[in-house]
Amino acid sequence: MPFLQFKNVDFSYPSGESDYIRALRAVDFTVERGEFVALVGCNGSGKSTLARLCNGLILPDAGAVTVDGVSTADRSALYDIRKKIGVVFQNPDNQMVTTIVEDDVAFGPENLGLKPDEIRRRVDWALDCVGMRDHATDGPFRLSGGQKQRVAIAGVLAIKPELMILDEATGMLDPDGRDEVMSVVKRLNRDEHMAVVMITHFMEEAAEADRIIILDKGKVVADGGRELFSTPEAFTDAGLDLPVSVRVAQKLKAAGLDIGCPLNADELVAATTRALAEKRGGK
Ligand code: ADP
Ligand code: MG
Repeated sequence: MPFLQFKNVDFSYPSGESDYIRALRAVDFTVERGEFVALVGCNGSGKSTLARLCNGLILPDAGAVTVDGVSTADRSALYDIRKKIGVVFQNPDNQMVTTIVEDDVAFGPENLGLKPDEIRRRVDWALDCVGMRDHATDGPFRLSGGQKQRVAIAGVLAIKPELMILDEATGMLDPDGRDEVMSVVKRLNRDEHMAVVMITHFMEEAAEADRIIILDKGKVVADGGRELFSTPEAFTDAGLDLPVSVRVAQKLKAAGLDIGCPLNADELVAATTRALAEKRGGK
């Protein structure tokens, strides 16, 4: 049984008296335990709507969303579902509810009704995971955007979810902040086997995932592994960019050097070096 499953999900928002906006149409996909999935799409393609459907903040108009086989429409299961799926949102300034880092991280476990020593353990563990233990007693005003997002991630981690959804959680950060958050998320996926759905419009981040789902105007138009980047139209038709390394590779190919489809700077350098050596060797 898939951990998270969307089956033929439609969702519309009311707009005016009798009109509505169709945000998602016939959306089908699954996320397995431990997977790292990137969800990409232009502004307004339905990404945040999809995120809100995952933990029952909103319910499908048609079709079903299930978590561990249980429908989010089953209101008695909502508490359980929200323990299993945590969501980190875009704006780091809207996510802290208290004025001290460790209190903020304790908020979730306190709401679960856990014992104080278990709360303490989870807070320390979560702050360690995101590298913020040294800031446990700081106020949010002393933190950078990247640090605030790491605290927000720790707050979700302290609930020990099986899946973390990051809805453009790096969108308001500078490149250093984005790197900080990305490396924390990658490590959690690798070492803690936490499934991740990374919603992003940074293609370099999407290229780090094992699987990429492309949304366009409320529909899933592609769902595949990293090889998806070898079909650039899948991205460009949905109005998306390609990772810089893929664009460089396209230009090199046009200039007569085929280096394949490197997805980051290291792969780009390695593939170019290899292709050049082969070319020289062949002459
Ligand atoms: P994304 O996160 O990809 O930018 P959204 O899920 O926010 O996309 O939006 C999908 C569509 O639904 C857009 O047309 C958007 O204008 C509309 N929409 C989103 N939230 C609301 C809302 N609360 N009320 C009405 N329409 C909304
Ligand atoms: Mg959004």
